[in-house]
Amino acid sequence: MTKPTSLISSEIDFNREGKQVGFLRLPHSVHRSAYGWIPIPVACIRNGEGPRVLLMAGNHGDEYEGQIALATLLRALDVQDVRGRLIFLTSANFPAAMAGMRTSPIDEGNLNRSFPGDPHGSVTAQIAWYIEHVLLPQCDYVFDLHSGGSSLMYVPSGLCRRHADPTRMARSLELLKAFAAPVSYVTDAPQGEDRTLTAAAARQGVIHLGTELGGGGTLTIAALRTAQEGVRRALKLVGALAESVPVTPAPASRLLQVRGSADYVYAPDSGLFEPLVELGDDVTVGQQAGIVHFHDTPWREPSVAVFQRAGTVLCKRMPCRTERGDCLFHLGTPFED
Ligand SMILES: [Zn+2]
Repeated sequence: MTKPTSLISSEIDFNREGKQVGFLRLPHSVHRSAYGWIPIPVACIRNGEGPRVLLMAGNHGDEYEGQIALATLLRALDVQDVRGRLIFLTSANFPAAMAGMRTSPIDEGNLNRSFPGDPHGSVTAQIAWYIEHVLLPQCDYVFDLHSGGSSLMYVPSGLCRRHADPTRMARSLELLKAFAAPVSYVTDAPQGEDRTLTAAAARQGVIHLGTELGGGGTLTIAALRTAQEGVRRALKLVGALAESVPVTPAPASRLLQVRGSADYVYAPDSGLFEPLVELGDDVTVGQQAGIVHFHDTPWREPSVAVFQRAGTVLCKRMPCRTERGDCLFHLGTPFED
C-alpha cells in the first residue's frame, strides 16, 4: 500500500534558507470556483542548523491574540534574527479564522478535535493531517496559541500537558516559566481525548507549549502583550533567536494545575447566567459559582451551580444566555508533581 499523501501543497520550501512567505494551497472545488484552492497563509524563516519550531495560532478562528502576536513577530524578524527554523501558521483553521468562528463554516470542523485528520477528508480534516504528518515531523517544538474564544474569558495563561517522562516534564515547565503568563498551568490529558494538537504533538515526539490568553471574542492589551513577549522569551529559551534579539525579563507566573472534571462548573439548566465570582478569585468547596435564571418562567426559583473544589477561577463564560452543559467556570489548583 502506498503511503497516503496530502492534497495540500506549499508555495514555500521549508528546507530553503532565508525568509519566505506564501500559502498552503488546499484544493477546494465549489460552485463559485471549479479549480480553486483555499489559501492558508504560511511563512518560514530558516537560518542554518538549530531548533525547529512551529508557531501556530488560529487553531480556533475566534481566538485573536495569537494570530496578531505571531503575525507581528513574523514581520519583525529577519533571517539573521533566527537560529534554526521557524514555521508560522498564524491562522491554522483559515476558513474559521476568516469567519471569526471557533469552527469552520465549510464543514463545521473544530480543528483541535480533528487530529490526526485525514489526507482526503473534509477541509478541516485535511488541515489537521497536514499539520500532524507534514509539519510536526519537521519540528522539535510547537507553540499553539489559544484563548477563550467567543464564549470564554481566561486569566492569561500558558499551559502544558503533564508528562510521565521527567525530562519532557522539566522541559515543558522551563518553557512555561519563560513564557511567563500571569498563570502557568499543567493539565492532565482528558481521558480518551486524542484529537487535539497536544495529542498530535505527543504522538510525533514534539514538545508542546499551549496558551489560553484571554478571549471573549475581543482583544485586551494585557493578553496581547503576554503573547508577544512570552513567545519571544520561549523562542530565546530554546535557542531559536539570535543573542541580539531583545526580550523582556520574565515577570512572576503562578504555577497551577487543572486536573479534571471536578475543576469545571457547568450550567445545570438553560437560561440566563449570573456569575457570582470573577476571574482570579479564590473559591472554596461548595461556594456558589453562578445562578441560572428562567426568564421563560420568572416565578420559578433559579438554579444554582456550586464549585466542587477549592481553587482559583481561571476561566469564565462570557455570554449571559446559557444552555445546560455549557462551561461556566474552571479552576486551577496549586501544582503538585
Ligand atoms: Zn482554542
